[in-house]
Amino acid sequence: MSQVDRASTFRRYGNSIELSAPAPLYLDHAASTPTAPEVIDAMLPWLREAHANPHSSHSHGLRAAAAVESARDEVAALIGAPADEIIFTSGATESNNIALLGLLSQAGLERSLAVSLIEHKSVLEVAEALRARGVEVVRLPVDATGRLQISDIEDHSRTTGRAQRLLSFAHANNEIGTVQALADVVATAHGRGWQVHVDAAQSAGKLPLDVVADDVDLLSLSSHKIYGPGGIGALFIHSALRAQLRPIMFGGGQEAGLRPGTIPTFLAVGFGAAARLAKARMRLDFSMMQSVAQAFLLGLKRGGVAYELLGDPLARLPGLLSIRLPGIDADDLLGRIAQEVSASTGSACSAGELRASHVLRGLGMDERSASEVIRLSFGRSSSVEQGSSAAAIVQAGVEQLQSH
Ligand code: PMP
Repeated sequence: MSQVDRASTFRRYGNSIELSAPAPLYLDHAASTPTAPEVIDAMLPWLREAHANPHSSHSHGLRAAAAVESARDEVAALIGAPADEIIFTSGATESNNIALLGLLSQAGLERSLAVSLIEHKSVLEVAEALRARGVEVVRLPVDATGRLQISDIEDHSRTTGRAQRLLSFAHANNEIGTVQALADVVATAHGRGWQVHVDAAQSAGKLPLDVVADDVDLLSLSSHKIYGPGGIGALFIHSALRAQLRPIMFGGGQEAGLRPGTIPTFLAVGFGAAARLAKARMRLDFSMMQSVAQAFLLGLKRGGVAYELLGDPLARLPGLLSIRLPGIDADDLLGRIAQEVSASTGSACSAGELRASHVLRGLGMDERSASEVIRLSFGRSSSVEQGSSAAAIVQAGVEQLQSH
């Protein structure tokens, strides 16, 4: 949420939020997950006692460096990557910037970037910056469920004459949960001479990923989406591309010169622990989140609430539900139930005005329908009971709004 969004939200709901009341159900895990207790335990010693700079060559520094390297192994293992092809960054936003700008901002090359209409802003805004630097930027459409069409990638390949080409897409969409056919998209793109960057901020830790088997060139990760601490992420860079990537920041040469600056050891350790935990619990988390989401949808159905589930009905993230409630203003609904549930709408505030998010517009939704969309995202600590209670809370809110 931007500063403007936040200010306007507080203006609308600030008075109705009772800070001493019990905390609402947290149903916004796609925005950020709580840090897992195991992760906090792993980080604490590195905050309390071990304070060294991992780039120092004395004993303290070498211990910190060993911890950072073991975290790198764990992050790499989550996506099947060799550890030396992972660099730590501050999050998926920075990883996306380093990947796209690093590969495409060199002058003098005929460059082309293809992105879908529903990418995260940290890809779309970089694409606009690259367009201003002479890169051909194409926005590929998606179908009504948010899936990229192989034929669009093929068609576009025929029309671009640019020598260097990159396709960047999110494996799973953060607003509607649709999961792309990763292997097919990558194979199509590679077959037509494109390099491929995958934004896996939402899918890593939830769906199996193997950058070697899937033949991915670049892949972005975020720690605070997998129950790790905020402020750290990673970028996988296939060794064959390393030499083509130009740094976008300059400093002490850390992280292969691509992300200079001191690595915060405790954050790396936390991210590593979160990756290890996510890998070990992936099946359990997946089936649990599916059950919770089903309990929620069943509750709505039983309560007679009319809804439309957005995104692909099958290829979707477990636990992320983007729902249109016809005739209900999503912003009013979430304001009404704010003391019981924390969730998101499908609108974002721009220049003080609520507008449909670019993702919903990318699906072809009009402003009115998009204003009726709420996004609930369950997480590891959500229970089936919470899924049912959330449905009852939404139902009560909908009924109140309908009776007005
Ligand atoms: N890409 C996607 C698909 C995301 O959902 C997010 C976070 N909302 C990001 C990138 C940015 O991640 P970070 O917060 O780690 O910068």
